[in-house]
Amino acid sequence: EIVDFNMFLNRIIDRFEMTHKDQVNFVRNIPSTPIFTEVAVDKMGQVLDNVISNAIKYSSSTNKKVEFHVKQNRLYNRMTVQIKDNGLGIPASKVDRIFERFYRVDKGRARKMGGTGLGLAISKEIIEAHDGKIWANSVENKGTTIFINLPCETLEEDDWGA
Ligand code: ATP
Ligand code: MG
Repeated sequence: EIVDFNMFLNRIIDRFEMTHKDQVNFVRNIPSTPIFTEVAVDKMGQVLDNVISNAIKYSSSTNKKVEFHVKQNRLYNRMTVQIKDNGLGIPASKVDRIFERFYRVDKGRARKMGGTGLGLAISKEIIEAHDGKIWANSVENKGTTIFINLPCETLEEDDWGA
């Protein structure tokens, strides 16, 4: 299905805002012009749900902030969404492992939090099935940014009809 990714993401953030308004400051840096992209809506929703849930879950309880950045690269028909938190972060030696099945950085903490450690492994499979890439940048005790790069469509001048 072809969707405007910006609207799609905004709807998902709206949902999180309704349930987390008091605990989390959501900052949107999302263009107002549409970015059309072909997605399996349920699956892409699952990816964003997991990444946003992680951003909230792996943050200390005060002043939680989740920042969204969407940017289109028209030259290559690609777009990137960044989901950045100011949470616990991940040690440099472990950041590449978070996309592995059942991998969790802090086993004790993870057990308390619930979940299975499958969220990002499934997210990676879904993103790759969309011809996309997902990766992470993180600084321990500062925060984590998840990057998702996806193909998108570019409207040619002609498509608007002259
Ligand atoms: P599930 O998603 O199955 O409920 P989970 O959240 O533990 O469980 P993943 O989403 O795959 O599993 O994440 C794997 C691990 O990566 C987490 O247990 C956590 O240690 C680490 N992690 C993921 N996102 C973040 C983040 N935003 N900040 C810090 N650590 C993170
Ligand atoms: Mg998760």
